Amino acid sequence: MLATTGIYHRLLTHKSYQAPILVLWVGSIIAASAGQMGPSWWKAHHMTHHQYVEQDLDPHSPYTPMQGIRGFFWSQGGWLLSSNFFPAKLPADVENDRFLKLIDRLHFIPVIALGAISYFIGGLEYLGAFFLSTTLLFHGVQTVNSLAHIFGTQPFITNDLSRNNGFVALITLGEGWHNLHHAFQSSSRHGITIRSGQVVYLPDVTFSFIKMLEFLKLASKLKLPTESRLLAACKEQNFEHSTSKVSAQ
Ligand SMILES: [Zn+2]
Ligand SMILES: [Zn+2]
Repeated sequence: MLATTGIYHRLLTHKSYQAPILVLWVGSIIAASAGQMGPSWWKAHHMTHHQYVEQDLDPHSPYTPMQGIRGFFWSQGGWLLSSNFFPAKLPADVENDRFLKLIDRLHFIPVIALGAISYFIGGLEYLGAFFLSTTLLFHGVQTVNSLAHIFGTQPFITNDLSRNNGFVALITLGEGWHNLHHAFQSSSRHGITIRSGQVVYLPDVTFSFIKMLEFLKLASKLKLPTESRLLAACKEQNFEHSTSKVSAQ
């Protein structure tokens, strides 16, 4: 999960911090071993999601092409069984790195290897645990696409229906603070909200992991929005501003 959230998502896709290329390579192999496909595939879909969020070209919106419970199942995994599985365009920066491109094309090898290692260590019991954990992780990651666009709070102004969802944040190590993420896509920290006009920091295990990488000199230049930018993007604050303007008039 950390390789998916901390490496594929926050490092590879959004470049929310900098890290040595080895961190990106090793993290990508670990993410591929979790059945998350390759780095080009992952980034391509995620960039498309941000670019066309909740519109027809969004690969996994719970609001289009289906709505309601069918929209939920579509965003939770149905989209992978459609032609949306194939990205329209692969990201040039990932494709230009020969090793990342190799991981992308051979993404099935790490996951098969992990299954084989599990079997050789602990027989069928460990192989069963491998399938169970891989399935749970897959559905956990997918809740960011489904639940975190349906249920939760929207403290920040965005042009989509992304939400901050504590349950999703718990099972995805911080990725459920998805409204903040859509508002500040390059922030290395997702666990941020606004309460009563104050910036409040929320538990974000992936951000703690990035801070640990920074402590180990394996991460640098962490991007974080300033409190004034956070407050300026806050719905509550803007509501207060607009009401005070109306009352002043
Ligand atoms: Zn989203
Ligand atoms: Zn993102």
